[in-house]
Amino acid sequence: MMSNMNVLSTYGDRWQSSLHWQPSAPQQQAFQQLYEAILAANQQVNLTRITTPEGFWEKHLWDSLQGIEPWLSNSDATAKALKVVDIGTGGGFPGLPVALVFPHWAIALIDATRKKIALLETVCETLAIANVSFLPQRAEQVAHQPLHREAYDLALLRAVGPANTCAEYALPLLSLGGQAVLYRGQWTAAEEAGLLAILPRLGGQLVEVRSQTTPLTQGTRHNVILTKAERTPDKFPRLPGIPAKTPLV
Ligand code: SAH
Repeated sequence: MMSNMNVLSTYGDRWQSSLHWQPSAPQQQAFQQLYEAILAANQQVNLTRITTPEGFWEKHLWDSLQGIEPWLSNSDATAKALKVVDIGTGGGFPGLPVALVFPHWAIALIDATRKKIALLETVCETLAIANVSFLPQRAEQVAHQPLHREAYDLALLRAVGPANTCAEYALPLLSLGGQAVLYRGQWTAAEEAGLLAILPRLGGQLVEVRSQTTPLTQGTRHNVILTKAERTPDKFPRLPGIPAKTPLV
């Protein structure tokens, strides 16, 4: 079902002014279709509380893509066929907007809630999004499977837990030199110190912390970018539930 009105195109100019990037007309259309499909799916399983056009545009579309701004503006990086994993994707964020913008990237969506992943599969089928795969499992399990361990160039995590928990999920999945983006709201010196203290144990390094202001409501965002410098010891991630219950200190 295609609607003839693209409510999200109202925000078209905001991409350029905030991210120095612009979706193509087909991408704008795909965003609108994603919005409608997520709203429809949301009737069956609670995927998101954000349902207004402006909320969806800012907090799902814009926010998902602002985290990969360095990749949006780097033609070298965008030319590569990256293997990406979205850990704790929920309603498909940030993974699905990233999949629409980079059709030559392969995006694996991980979520522990099988129902959410099943619904995302239906959404992708409906919208003919072909560069996405689905892993209805805990990140701690996926990260010990040979097919997935050290297999990804880029890991994305939004609203999945404390930074140290996210680092323990993400670093085992990254290949050497791969990067993780932790999507955060506020970011404190204490969080940064806590993360720096544990990264060496996981083979990780902090690359940079980038800050952004959301264009419609002037909210604060921080993206914490990690890289894998050394192999992660086999004992990480620890057993399912432990990284969240007892983050590394
Ligand atoms: N990233 C989405 C959803 C955030 S809610 C967004 O920002 O909108 C957090 C999601 O992570 C939930 O759907 C939950 O099921 C999933 N999750 C939490 N811990 C997980 C783990 N260890 N492995 C896999 N999924 C996890």
